[in-house]
Amino acid sequence: MIAEKQFPTHARAVVIGGGVVGCSILFHLAKFGWKDSVLLERDELTSGSSWHAAGQIHTISSDPNISRLQGYTINLYKEIEETSGQSVGLHSTGGFYLASNRTWYEYLKRERSKARYMGLDQEFISVKEAAERHPLIDPSHYLAALWDPLDGDVDPSGVCYAYAKSARVHGAQYYTHTPVIETNCCHPISSASPTVSSWHSSAFQRLARSGSRPL
Ligand SMILES: Cc1cc2nc3c(=O)[nH]c(=O)nc-3n(C[C@H](O)[C@H](O)[C@H](O)COP(=O)(O)OP(=O)(O)OC[C@H]3O[C@@H](n4cnc5c(N)ncnc54)[C@H](O)[C@@H]3O)c2cc1C
Repeated sequence: MIAEKQFPTHARAVVIGGGVVGCSILFHLAKFGWKDSVLLERDELTSGSSWHAAGQIHTISSDPNISRLQGYTINLYKEIEETSGQSVGLHSTGGFYLASNRTWYEYLKRERSKARYMGLDQEFISVKEAAERHPLIDPSHYLAALWDPLDGDVDPSGVCYAYAKSARVHGAQYYTHTPVIETNCCHPISSASPTVSSWHSSAFQRLARSGSRPL
């Protein structure tokens, strides 16, 4: 028999799904003042696609908003590690993007201009230097190399927990093994715990991806 969980019945925002997106939303809500927010996860945190992610991080993207968001997020990792005491497993290895023809070289030049405008620190290095940093590269095939010092990788599971624990530090709550089975548009959210609970909230974010069709 599963013991009945004690849930609050009101929350300013209810976030459904404890993957990296849901945990990040909960953290930001709590940090910026919506402390009366909760996250409901049907299983354990990071049991969806976030658990499978390779965790590659970079700031180069053809969409400047994505680049800015990625730069912001990479710089946020230190903060959530400190707040939560949870490692995100960040390895800032740096990375480069190679141009093998003039068209790609022009593209990388545009990327660098955009990055500089957004305060991101990318720079061209010589192809000889690129080959020194990565011995499998044959410099004779390339015209240019753009170096991004923020490139690297993280532990996606660690990131989810660091967001969620930081959200708790800021006053929010998350509940695992708490599947949502029904949402009522505009008003209360009915969710299910091992015993059924009803949530009354002014806002909810449905971020459950895989397996959320029944909702
Ligand atoms: C193999 C692989 C490699 C990847 N590599 C990278 C990478 O290198 N870099 C990168 O940026 N991205 C990568 N991604 C993409 C990245 O993993 C996803 O974009 C990200 O994890 C999506 O997060 P999410 O929070 O939206 O979804 P999810 O992590 O799937 O979270 C959804 C959560 O909702 C919960 N849920 C579902 N239904 C309910 C319900 N009814 N009630 C309560 N909870 C519910 C689930 O249990 C789950 O925990 C990769 C993905 C895969 C599969």
